[in-house]
Amino acid sequence: MTGQLICQACAAAYPLDEARWRCDCGALLDVAFDPAFEPVFDRERIARRKPTMWRYREAIPIRDDAHVVSFDEGFTPLIPVEVDGREVLVKQDHLFPTGSYKDRGASVLVSKVKELGIRHVVEDSSGNAGSAIAAYCARAGVRCDIFVPASTTAGKLAQIQGYGATLHQIPGSREDTARAALEAAQQTYYASHVWNPIFFQGTKTFAFEVCEQLGWHTPDTVILPVGNGTLLLGAHLGFEELLAAGVVSRRPKIIAVQAANCAPLYRAFQQGQEAPTPIDAQATWAEGIAIAEPVRGPQILRAVGGSGGHFLAVSANEIKQALKDICRWGFYIEPSAAASIAGVRQYVRRAPADETIVTVFTGHGLKTTEKMLKLL
Ligand SMILES: *Cc1c(COP(=O)(O)O)cnc(C)c1O
Ligand SMILES: [Zn+2]
Repeated sequence: MTGQLICQACAAAYPLDEARWRCDCGALLDVAFDPAFEPVFDRERIARRKPTMWRYREAIPIRDDAHVVSFDEGFTPLIPVEVDGREVLVKQDHLFPTGSYKDRGASVLVSKVKELGIRHVVEDSSGNAGSAIAAYCARAGVRCDIFVPASTTAGKLAQIQGYGATLHQIPGSREDTARAALEAAQQTYYASHVWNPIFFQGTKTFAFEVCEQLGWHTPDTVILPVGNGTLLLGAHLGFEELLAAGVVSRRPKIIAVQAANCAPLYRAFQQGQEAPTPIDAQATWAEGIAIAEPVRGPQILRAVGGSGGHFLAVSANEIKQALKDICRWGFYIEPSAAASIAGVRQYVRRAPADETIVTVFTGHGLKTTEKMLKLL
């Protein structure tokens, strides 16, 4: 396996084995790597393996199996759910070990941390990415400092501390928290789910699993919640890799759902902009996707536009109603995760009748008990 980290702005290339999370010019990096084995996706070989996200081992840029940090996570069920008379397939990513899909990225990123021999990392999040990085660091024996906004729900704070991470609660906005973590990252490795491109090498397994679960076929449409785009960009990358490898013959349309109270990407897409401009965000129930300044904004806009998809904005009421209904159907998810079904509702009103639609439950309801009590 060989690979590089490539700068999005100046095209500088660095070895994949370098402990670096951004370019010397300050811009974002992406991963380019050549797998050691061909074919990368051998269906029969994959089918014989354990039902985890690591069954696509050859597609994940970790050299040595001994460095893989895992709880046998992933290959979450993809099950039919009827929404307003229309069947959609919902990926049950709230069933990950820490209760959110962030484990996909954390498993690969912390494996890389272990491979590079790094002993201490920092990360910032609205709660779920912090919990995921903290859990995988605990399993790997790596020290970690997690920065969260002071307003983060108690369940997520407890979880992060429970895993033994050092918790820093930062007053102010989500962006203030990111700045505090960046400051701390000067001294150590930034295991950021947004900046660090290795994280997306984990979230891309979402696409691999969906296609395999559909008999190695691409769904027509994938509806995903988006704030920083860590699931959306990973899924996009995964679908691209399957297409490039000739495993599938097309890509799905990606529909991206934002909370109307904090929808910079929706607005930029509507206005035909290449990059989001700063917005005045208001409070939303969907804390997980309330990102006023998405660092990878231009990349997200290109991914969605290039797939033939578009953005939707869902109101606080739509999110609340979706959450109540989803719980009545027997799924206990957190408010941020309900945005996807609120988006599905808008989408299916105009969707062609024969489309295969896939969406996701991103986070577990048990993380946000106080909020659930207020909402329900
Ligand atoms: C992280 C997260 C999202 C969205 O992720 P982004 O990377 O900000 O696009 C959605 N739902 C939940 C529960 C999350 O934890
Ligand atoms: Zn650069």
